[in-house]
Amino acid sequence: MLNKNREKLTLSRILYFIVLIILIIVAIKLFNKYINNNFNDFILTEYIPYTSEFSRDSEVKYSKMNSYKISSPKVNDAMFFKSISVTPNTPYKVTCMVKTENVKTLKEVSSAGAHISIADTVEKSESVTGTTDWQKLEFIFNSKNRTSVNLGFRLGGYDDNCTGTAWFSDFSIEEGSETLDNNWNFACFIIKNTDVEVEKNGQKNHIRLNMSNEDITDMKQNMSRFKTACEQLSNNKMKVSYDVITIDEPITSLSYDTENGYFVAPENVKKVMKPYLTQKDYDHIYICVRLGDNEHQKDIPVYDWIGLGGMDYLGIGFSNIRLPNSSGSYTYKYNASINTFPEEVFIHEFLHTLERNCKEYGYERPELHDYANYGYKDEKIIGLKKWYEDYMNCEIKTSSGYIGLNSNVFKLKPNHEEDFKFSLKLDEFDEPSNIFEQIKMLITKAFNNANNLIMHKKENS
Ligand SMILES: [Zn+2]
Repeated sequence: MLNKNREKLTLSRILYFIVLIILIIVAIKLFNKYINNNFNDFILTEYIPYTSEFSRDSEVKYSKMNSYKISSPKVNDAMFFKSISVTPNTPYKVTCMVKTENVKTLKEVSSAGAHISIADTVEKSESVTGTTDWQKLEFIFNSKNRTSVNLGFRLGGYDDNCTGTAWFSDFSIEEGSETLDNNWNFACFIIKNTDVEVEKNGQKNHIRLNMSNEDITDMKQNMSRFKTACEQLSNNKMKVSYDVITIDEPITSLSYDTENGYFVAPENVKKVMKPYLTQKDYDHIYICVRLGDNEHQKDIPVYDWIGLGGMDYLGIGFSNIRLPNSSGSYTYKYNASINTFPEEVFIHEFLHTLERNCKEYGYERPELHDYANYGYKDEKIIGLKKWYEDYMNCEIKTSSGYIGLNSNVFKLKPNHEEDFKFSLKLDEFDEPSNIFEQIKMLITKAFNNANNLIMHKKENS
């Protein structure tokens, strides 16, 4: 009797353990399937809701984990993003692998496609369009005055939409350290030929224009004068080096907006610039272009601008310098009795970038166009030279003290690869690949949260 009971007990124990092990195996399998098929901590967002499909793909994938797939059969801007804590004034580099199929942008010339971006800003990596195999995407940004950013992987764009499919995989983020120097390296692209189709009075016009040798010489001389002027006007708060790059290949597309008319956006010249920008790190870009010629009665509709600034291409300030339509103009020519400050447009447009940086880093500064409010005049022969000098040196007198650019802004240049020589890899995008890693991650998160609580308590006390 006793023996039989013992046997029954042992058998039921064995059965119990077998069932338990099977349950654990099933749970692990289900759990692994779950973590490999959801978007983890990412938040999904779409410009037109319920248009794009977000899924994890076990067939088309780059590594062990399933890839993150966005499919937009109809035109849309779709993204999955995560809020990441950042330290202010710090450079970051985000990378991922991306593959695309039939990605088409709505606009002919567009900055949209598959890319990495910060939600609600124009900060982004390069975009991938068409059908492409797996390639690495890299996005460098500076946190500026922010403590968190919404980092997203996107099929679409800030100002354009897409159709097609994109797969993303292997996300990583690292924190760099800023090289704080005041040596600015400028790239000045002189686009010698313009060959574009534009709309004028409701009709399409094909316009071909070219620069004269004198135009090119003027631009080169102005870059040399710009270097000296920047250093002198800023009281040596910045140093300038530059390359002048003359491009024979005509520009074949322009961008348009109702405020400025036609202008050159980075998308119109990115192919031309790319070989030069991959060879060398630049901190600011000028595009010199001709958009009209009075003698040959050709003109592209431009609403009264000679320079355009405040734009950026992959975090680098980007300005347009337009040649005047009349060859008799002295805008870019030095003449002792007419114009002794022909580099003014170059200075003005670069200052728009510093003005914008100042704001984004959280410094107060007056608007560059507000000179009249502070008693400055656009004078004959020297233009706004005095205003720029005081603006750069924070010597604009007001009833409440001196204002202008904060001197730190001369060291706040775009971040480049060199800022990540001794970078710190962050685990923001690490995802668990099995149940044990998931548990480990949960414990780490709980531990970090507990630490944060303690830190906040200390701050409060
Ligand atoms: Zn301006």
